[in-house]
Amino acid sequence: MTSHVLDLAGAGIGPFNLSLAAQLDSVPQLSVRFFERRPSFAWHPGMMLPGAEMQTSILKDLVTATNPTSRWSFLSYLVAHKRFYQFINAEYEAVPRKEFADYLGWVASGLASLRFGSRVREIHANDGFFSVTTDHGVIGARNLSVGIGKVPARPAWSEQLAKSMTFHSSEAAQRLGDVKAPRIAVIGGGQSGAEIVDALLDRNSTSTIHWISRRPNFEPLDATPFTNELFTPSYMERFHGLPEELRLTHTRRQVLASDGVSASTLKKLYRRLYERKLETPSAVDQGISLRPFRNVIAAVQDGSEVTLTTRNGFDDSMETLTIDLIVLATGYRFVLPDFLHSLENRIELNSVGEPALRSDFSLVWDGPDENRIFVLNAGRHSHGIAEPQLSLTAWRSAVIANSLLGHEHFDLGQLDPIIRWETQTSPSNYSSSVGLAAE
Ligand SMILES: Cc1cc2nc3c(=O)[nH]c(=O)nc-3n(C[C@H](O)[C@H](O)[C@H](O)COP(=O)(O)OP(=O)(O)OC[C@H]3O[C@@H](n4cnc5c(N)ncnc54)[C@H](O)[C@@H]3O)c2cc1C
Repeated sequence: MTSHVLDLAGAGIGPFNLSLAAQLDSVPQLSVRFFERRPSFAWHPGMMLPGAEMQTSILKDLVTATNPTSRWSFLSYLVAHKRFYQFINAEYEAVPRKEFADYLGWVASGLASLRFGSRVREIHANDGFFSVTTDHGVIGARNLSVGIGKVPARPAWSEQLAKSMTFHSSEAAQRLGDVKAPRIAVIGGGQSGAEIVDALLDRNSTSTIHWISRRPNFEPLDATPFTNELFTPSYMERFHGLPEELRLTHTRRQVLASDGVSASTLKKLYRRLYERKLETPSAVDQGISLRPFRNVIAAVQDGSEVTLTTRNGFDDSMETLTIDLIVLATGYRFVLPDFLHSLENRIELNSVGEPALRSDFSLVWDGPDENRIFVLNAGRHSHGIAEPQLSLTAWRSAVIANSLLGHEHFDLGQLDPIIRWETQTSPSNYSSSVGLAAE
């Protein structure tokens, strides 16, 4: 092991740890290093489908919300690439995901604290620091930042099916090109499901696509102003202070604020179907059959076919469908990484099996307080639906930086929220500083 002990070692370089690295670039007194198993930066390459758009404003980039003069902002990227004026002239309602990924890659190529092609394999707690084993050796760090993303969530009924007949949306870009199946089911009514249906329609093939969703309809992302208040630091701070039972209930109710389909994607799909009707008014399904309110309850494979049984919540009846290929746009879930197994019994979990997170995004464990393990993208039930999204990335990174430094290096003061979320027992309770001091 090298003798120098870092202030922070990060596992994974997706947008979340990348934001932390970018924010810490302006804090030279901290020694930090981040490790990524991929040879170079890539942002969900399996879902980089043509025409895919961002669901978030470019102002909510890696740094701007708390560090607007950082050189790692999206605007700085535009200027560096001489596209500032043309970007404005393009008048995007939603920026292409490809461009945002290019921005992220540009930041990743400019930060000296990043190491690619280096998987974090093991972490052990020693007296006062962690030893972190990567593909390139062992290094000591007083704190950790786990930013390894989530793993594909596959429904139990899909586990028995042949790999050639089913794949998860995270592999879509690689797998969709080869698809020749005459009957395809896309399972999942969120943004990924919609983008995959759109990509399948692009191919202009003779396949029939069945788009199946548990939700009662193909429902839009609620991106209206009062809902967007859920994506503010002041809401997140208040949410974190609630009892767990309430947090879980609120999260379930808020699903369309984070997981609905962008209005632009829905409109585009609807217009495509309308145009198909114009061209061939007599065709029954126009090569696509939309099936919301369907819960898949069984999948039985017989040779090269799968029979799906679904319960239709609209008329409370059962349906069966014979399918040749199933695309699972069924989301992602957090799992504690293998490299933390040596600490597994020392980490407190919440009732849904995720690490219990303090307000500064560090997990609760029985080790010393000065050795913190920050976990990013595991806080949907502790910090709210904004936590797994980009919206508060820059702010969260600043919270973590302040926690590492032990003082308010980044000014995180907020205006009072527009909505009175909590009950006020007296006017003086209505203060903006719920506070992010270490518990
Ligand atoms: C297709 C898609 C589009 C999205 N679009 C939006 C959007 O428009 N707006 C929004 O707000 N949110 C969006 N999200 C949600 C969220 O912003 C992204 O999932 C984001 O990528 C999360 O960042 P992350 O850093 O936690 O994880 P990831 O991007 O998954 O990155 C994790 C990284 O960790 C690496 N890694 C894993 N294990 C190890 C290890 N042991 N050692 C080293 N490296 C490791 C992985 O290789 C990976 O590069 C989107 C999500 C998806 C799936």
